[in-house]
Amino acid sequence: MRILKGIAASSGIGIGRAFLYVHEKLVIPHVYIPAAKINAEKERFQHALGMVGGELGNMLDESAAEDHRKILETHLLMLSDPEFNVMVKKRIESDSICAEWAVESILSSLIETLEKADDPVLRERGADLYDIGWRVIRQMMGKRRPDLAAINEEVVLVADTLLPSEALSLDHMNVKAIALDGGGRTSHVAILARALQIPTVVGLGKITGKVSPGDEIIVDGNLGEVAIRPSSASAHKMRNRYDRWMEHERELQDLAALEAVTKDGHRVELKANIETVDEIDSVLKHGAGGVGLFRSEFLFLKPGGATEEEQFTAYRDVIERMHKSGSVTIRTIDVGGDKVIPGMEGLGEENPILGWRAVRFCLSRKDIFRTQLRAMLRASAYGKLKIMFPMISGPEELDNVLLVLDQVKDECRSTGIPFDEDVEVGTMIEVPSAALCADLLAPKTDFFSIGTNDLIQYTIAVDRGNDKIAYLYQPFHPGVLRLIRLIVEKGHQAGIPVAMCGEMAGDPLSTVLLLGLGIDEFSMSPQSLLEIKNIIRSITLAEAKELVGKVMEMNSYIHIDTYVREWMHDRFGDFVTT
Ligand code: PEP
Ligand code: MG
Repeated sequence: MRILKGIAASSGIGIGRAFLYVHEKLVIPHVYIPAAKINAEKERFQHALGMVGGELGNMLDESAAEDHRKILETHLLMLSDPEFNVMVKKRIESDSICAEWAVESILSSLIETLEKADDPVLRERGADLYDIGWRVIRQMMGKRRPDLAAINEEVVLVADTLLPSEALSLDHMNVKAIALDGGGRTSHVAILARALQIPTVVGLGKITGKVSPGDEIIVDGNLGEVAIRPSSASAHKMRNRYDRWMEHERELQDLAALEAVTKDGHRVELKANIETVDEIDSVLKHGAGGVGLFRSEFLFLKPGGATEEEQFTAYRDVIERMHKSGSVTIRTIDVGGDKVIPGMEGLGEENPILGWRAVRFCLSRKDIFRTQLRAMLRASAYGKLKIMFPMISGPEELDNVLLVLDQVKDECRSTGIPFDEDVEVGTMIEVPSAALCADLLAPKTDFFSIGTNDLIQYTIAVDRGNDKIAYLYQPFHPGVLRLIRLIVEKGHQAGIPVAMCGEMAGDPLSTVLLLGLGIDEFSMSPQSLLEIKNIIRSITLAEAKELVGKVMEMNSYIHIDTYVREWMHDRFGDFVTT
């Protein structure tokens, strides 16, 4: 037996046999082919097309999910496109190059052309083409990856990393738990695992090198531990701990209908973060007072992205289903960084975290941006919608996105599309420069929402997804706490509420501190809501302010962390502090 310690990313315990999934970096061979072997090379390509076609056909026969079937059908159609076939074969012949190289070069020029097209349907084809082209290349190189969507028995997924699109394709009935080599608590795969309610531990170092397919694995997503080939005694211990935790969770259910109000009468809003429409059941079950962050980019993860109609339907559904509980804040698309969408993997930016993401992407792809804003405005006619912009770095950028929003509103007015004229518009504060000029941004916006996942990453200069430096990712770093205090102060001076939608808002260890710092709205994964409500209802605002007073005088995050941990442990016990 072997126990590995990692980072607890999604609570619960999962037991099952290991399903190993490792991404290999493919280096495409650039080999010249002698004239005598050109025909054989073309045949090798043709054979790969046939094999991939057969594989997709089988998957189509077995797949029940409508979305998945549509994707497979599109891919099959593309695979049999004679034009693609002829282009690749001609390239093999004219340049005397191997088939992998020919497919790669045809793919990149086709995708580049498609991405420049005016017609959105043509642009969407780029992502599909990318997917299918790489399947063919992998087939020829003998590097086929198992299809995660096809997992049809109960397993524990052990992987180096997972792309968001891969995580979304998982069948959460069969995937009992996830254990990953890399990643941090606030990496997007961890966020998705919580949304899918799959117990998950990340940052395990090299678990993929220590596990063989079929090994028995226990993943404890509460403690951040993974047992490989466990003894029956330790399996028993882990199950006991799980039972105690489940009992605690059941007790918390009684709080679902109650308000989030402190013992001295200070009320805050508790809302949910969601990535997909399917999560609304869980949001309602956990008694959220609205959706504080809908990460709309997850609609774009499927090949082909999301049309205006698809977006409108998703936004409207969420707004209508939340109507009785509260408003819905939809964030405009935040792709880039570690949220790669199919077709964007190839951009090859040297520094994607500091690169072309979120509103930076939207301002240079106004076609996508406007379509999304129009879908949101249309949906605003069906309930209470708020629109929020991610990664704003300063006043000019905010002015630029607000200008586009005004233009789209004008367009709606002139074409008679009804929308909520009073729709509120918020700014995420997740870049240090935005925090430092919060006073300049506040008058331009109806609310702030602090995105601590990125704010911590950029303030401390620590990649949120890199397990090697996870020890530096400290929400209680004095620099981070000072920025939060500044944002709240400037927001309140301008008379706007300050929300928080980063993972810190759902971390029980931070709740009292954040309350004392003046956060008005906490938005988090639905599973965390009741624990946080329990804490808020058990203390007074005066106590929270006293804690903040003490902590802000301390000169290191270690002191702050130790002090807060002990304070919280004395009041709430181990479920809050592990
Ligand atoms: C954040 O950065 O805190 C946030 C909520 O946005 P995301 O995690 O999607 O980057
Ligand atoms: Mg962010």
